[in-house]
Amino acid sequence: MSPDEKNADAMHTDAINADATSGTAVKPVGILGVGAAAPSLRLAAKDVGAAWGSSAGRGTVAVCDADEDTLTLAWRAANAALDAAGVSPAEVSGLWWGTARPPFAEGPSHAFLATTLGLDRSVGGGLASGSPHAGMEALLAAWDALAAGHARYALVVTSDALVPGLGTAGESTTGAGAAAVVLGAIAEGSAGPSANGSSPPARLVGRATLAMPAVDRYRADGDRVTGDVYDARLFREQVFVPLLTDTGRGVAEGAATPLRAWAIADPDGKLASAVAKRLGAPLASAPVFGALGDTGSAAALLGLVHACADNAANTANAANTTDATGSASSGGLIGAIGYGGGRATAVVVDAARAVPGAVTVDMLGTGRQVAYAEALRARGQLEPMADPIEMGLPPGGAAFVRGNPEMLGLFGARCRDCGTISTPPSIHPTCTGCGGDHLEVVPLARRGRVETFVVNQTMPPPFQAPLPLVVIDLEDGARLMVQGSPADAADLAVGDVVTLSLRRYALERGIPVYGYKAFRVAGTGAGSGVPKGTTVGSGQDRSAREGGS
Ligand SMILES: [Zn+2]
Repeated sequence: MSPDEKNADAMHTDAINADATSGTAVKPVGILGVGAAAPSLRLAAKDVGAAWGSSAGRGTVAVCDADEDTLTLAWRAANAALDAAGVSPAEVSGLWWGTARPPFAEGPSHAFLATTLGLDRSVGGGLASGSPHAGMEALLAAWDALAAGHARYALVVTSDALVPGLGTAGESTTGAGAAAVVLGAIAEGSAGPSANGSSPPARLVGRATLAMPAVDRYRADGDRVTGDVYDARLFREQVFVPLLTDTGRGVAEGAATPLRAWAIADPDGKLASAVAKRLGAPLASAPVFGALGDTGSAAALLGLVHACADNAANTANAANTTDATGSASSGGLIGAIGYGGGRATAVVVDAARAVPGAVTVDMLGTGRQVAYAEALRARGQLEPMADPIEMGLPPGGAAFVRGNPEMLGLFGARCRDCGTISTPPSIHPTCTGCGGDHLEVVPLARRGRVETFVVNQTMPPPFQAPLPLVVIDLEDGARLMVQGSPADAADLAVGDVVTLSLRRYALERGIPVYGYKAFRVAGTGAGSGVPKGTTVGSGQDRSAREGGS
């Protein structure tokens, strides 16, 4: 290499370094919409304490029912966020999913979620996992892709449904939930959000990551459940509080104005408030922990979604009541910090207007309160002695490989000649209406009416009775038979309006099998008394749009 070449090389390196270390290198991206989801069950922490003969535990934690998991939660939050943002699945350039524990430890987790969301087969993005820091890793990766110009709209989904070990402190703090964000690139030279609605309602404007290589909560290969930190006091004093405080200060110091609130991941309901106190602004995410517990990878964004909704409510209240101080004028900066696996990431959101889709945690519903034993059963930690009956078809076999796209994406075959939609497409090479073979695969409506149904009162494990099997006439004219919700079994009637929501049908030979279930929409049928919250976040908003009139 000649001296000239060396100089050119050095200059090139200098240019890159200067760019990467400069404080102005962070390119803001727009937040176009957000969504959130919580599972159906709630467990009182005091019930956990009672089971183990201790008084430990306050508040409730959210628990997945047997047919819910991190993927079904992610699906619901993502649908809600796309709806709120007004972005169609076909427009999404990439899906970034952060979950500490994906449904397949190795396997098609990302492909399954992308297919259920109706994203294009060419969609980019990635899956971050391995610790609850995965949610922030997904967020930053999507941000990078937008800033680099490699994506126009990015869908970020964070979700978790961790399973705490029996007798661990984590049993009374580990929850489940999901939050999703639709991000969009901001045009070069744009001044940012404006009041007339022409620019994003909020922007991601600051970020910082710090690491500390300490072992905290941990799950080894082969372990089904997560263990506690070895020394909680050491973790608090030497790891969590200093690391998150430093990370938060890192973004707060670079911010144009003081942050008005923080959303902070909280492993035990006490650690986050200690960090917020040191950072000098209120902990806006506290109600999320109180209602759902520690939602792992979703915690930071769920707290942020709640804070944005809270923020909007406060702003509206301030506008309605003549607030002489004007302290809650509009928007402001909100910080969010995620933690896991010895890494913390903080981001700063500049929310100029109400963020579409932002909901407070109480709007996600109160769920169904269950006793400790039922929570264990739902998590698969308490199993009946009777052998579950294996499916005749292995989930890796040809029938599933060929059927997965239509089952996960919920497709039908529409006849170009007579318009009839046949379901499922793979077993109908010809139209069920006219017998023709000019068929095109189309997404089915997600809403319809019960044509007929039967309720099974006896089911072999892993299925639970009473289990309705429902034949639905969808709004697009297709007819479909799917499982219904056990919670609807008593009240279900012909003519009821139902929406379809993704659920886990079975965990077959260790492999999750997903499909859609029908959920009765409250107040639409002959009967009444559907529990409040049944339809919240079940994807019915998007269904209504897809279903047409
Ligand atoms: Zn036809």
